[in-house]
Amino acid sequence: MAIPTEGCGSVPRPSYLLEAMGAFKDGKISKAGFDAATEKAIIETITEMEATGSSIITDGEQSKPSFATYPLDGLTNLGPDGVVIPFADGHTRQLPCLTSGPFRYSAYTGAYVAQARKHTKLRLKQAVISPSAMCLLYPESGIDGYPRETFIADLIGECVKDIRSAFDAGAEIVQIDFTEGRLACKLDPSKGLLRQFVELNNAVLDQFSDSERANIGIHTCPGGDHNSTHSADVDYSELLPDLFQMKAGRFYLQMASEIDKPRILDIIQRERQPFQTTFIGVIDPCDMNVETFDIVRDRTLEIAEHLKGERFGTTDDCGFSPFGDDIAMARATAFAKIKARVVGTALAAEKLG
Ligand SMILES: [Zn+2]
Repeated sequence: MAIPTEGCGSVPRPSYLLEAMGAFKDGKISKAGFDAATEKAIIETITEMEATGSSIITDGEQSKPSFATYPLDGLTNLGPDGVVIPFADGHTRQLPCLTSGPFRYSAYTGAYVAQARKHTKLRLKQAVISPSAMCLLYPESGIDGYPRETFIADLIGECVKDIRSAFDAGAEIVQIDFTEGRLACKLDPSKGLLRQFVELNNAVLDQFSDSERANIGIHTCPGGDHNSTHSADVDYSELLPDLFQMKAGRFYLQMASEIDKPRILDIIQRERQPFQTTFIGVIDPCDMNVETFDIVRDRTLEIAEHLKGERFGTTDDCGFSPFGDDIAMARATAFAKIKARVVGTALAAEKLG
């Protein structure tokens, strides 16, 4: 049997690209200069991705400012003081806050796909931000003249447009980054917040056909930034039953860094729905050591023991640099880890016959 394997999206940006991003922001280089640096990084990334043996790749999110904020870049109706996300090592990330309506994205991911398409013949995958993350932009105190219901309707429309733009530009798979799922269990142990998130994401998924939803996935993880996480202390079993209520056909689930994998894999097998394929993490992007082919093979065989049938694949636990400025891991290490996933997964498939 062949076992499908897909990455999550991002790889660390080369230093010349990060420098160009900073210089462009400060008005020190032109748009053309910035675009040239971006194009160079995308070409280099795609060449390296192809060399890993992957059959489906991404652009490594080289030109995305971050996995969460790309649709906000350049918007003028945002303030600085939004929701703060604390990580286990003490550092934080803060979202901006919407100050007026209407809410419209400044960028749609189809543009990234179109750019990547020029440089590879391989199948392409594109990650988009979840509506449930973007809904955190709306302030608790409300906005005069722009009620929350109107914002939510606008948000659903923008998320649908974002996903459609990726498909239209040639992405075969679109992955919705839902890293706030496990965090929601921590912020609200009653699960009320998590269920609101699931409902909102389903309102977007409802706009697609069954065959389109089969190619739309949900990525979940405890957050990965500067080798730290925001919600690994929440037991996975708190998240999984509600997670699989989302009407997506694919799920990309962090697992390599979990301590008790057999217990969690059994919960996944029990809770997933018949139309859902689960891609299980066999690579830990917060670990600087490159997994050996044999480690990946053995992790994949363990997954196969617990997830019966053919509705499973392998993935990385998270992107290697979801926030654009995270360079904790060297690019070469990230690509070596991707190659280990591809080769190790194939070794497991060979063994399973
Ligand atoms: Zn992640």
